[in-house]
Amino acid sequence: EVFGLAGESGCGKTVTCLALLRLLPAATTVVLSGHAWFRGRDLLAMSPAELRAVRGAEIAMIFQEPSAAMNPLLTIQHQLEMPFRFHRDRSTENARLAKDPAPRIRELLDRVGLRDPDRVLRSYPHELSGGMLQRVMIAHALLLRPALILADEPTTALDVTIQAQVLDLLAELQRETGTSVVLITHNLNLIAQYAERAAVMYAGRVVEQGPALDLLRDPKHPYSRGLLDALPDLDAAQVPRPIAGSVPPPGRYPAGCRFRDRCPRAFEACITDPAWSQPAPGRKVACHLYEAVA
Ligand code: SF4
Repeated sequence: EVFGLAGESGCGKTVTCLALLRLLPAATTVVLSGHAWFRGRDLLAMSPAELRAVRGAEIAMIFQEPSAAMNPLLTIQHQLEMPFRFHRDRSTENARLAKDPAPRIRELLDRVGLRDPDRVLRSYPHELSGGMLQRVMIAHALLLRPALILADEPTTALDVTIQAQVLDLLAELQRETGTSVVLITHNLNLIAQYAERAAVMYAGRVVEQGPALDLLRDPKHPYSRGLLDALPDLDAAQVPRPIAGSVPPPGRYPAGCRFRDRCPRAFEACITDPAWSQPAPGRKVACHLYEAVA
């Protein structure tokens, strides 16, 4: 499935995905509690060697800024061959591809719409446009047929036409290969278009989740409602209404519901943490407006 993760900048979407792959700086990161289950194994409890075997092979990430994520000193060819070399001992298929990676790389470059593979392969990242680099990064993520792709704002740097092309391609490849995708975006329209299920994050926590279309048609959490009201709608007479204020930095979260200072529906009970409620089948929301489930 494609799972959409939405929320304003600073809500913790990217940090969540970096935390899953344990890519946050070790010096400033500590796991206080919890698990991250992936195919029956806890990513947070894996040894560094076990984790290296998962990264890039079973879970791949499309980073927000391809120009910053790619090595400026290595050609695209070198960077696309690297996963095969690194993971060659982990399966016979990888060993075969490591010996002759060119056909698979060219096939994927073709799939992502890069029509001059020779030029792309001999280029350094700064010689390609943002759209081309984004496509290279999608091809890179798909090289070893991962079970899960974490796509962090995969189209932010692209213009609208290329944005649609890249997301259509990702959705097509997802359907073909059975890969699951976590689509991180602050654009709710993209979630409506591409995701089956979705979650909304606020201040480091998921506050609502459910089937994407249900969530967007009938948001239950006041923050989700606020995100939708802030969208411009060319067909409606109503002007967009932005949510007042901004996401507090970690360490300045209010006690109780973290959305309390900005919520138009806050009341006395909101000074305590809301538990999960199930306002409709398949839906979950953390808000005192709904009755908590036992
Ligand atoms: Fe608003 Fe209270 Fe619900 Fe938080 S718990 S979203 S403050 S109504």
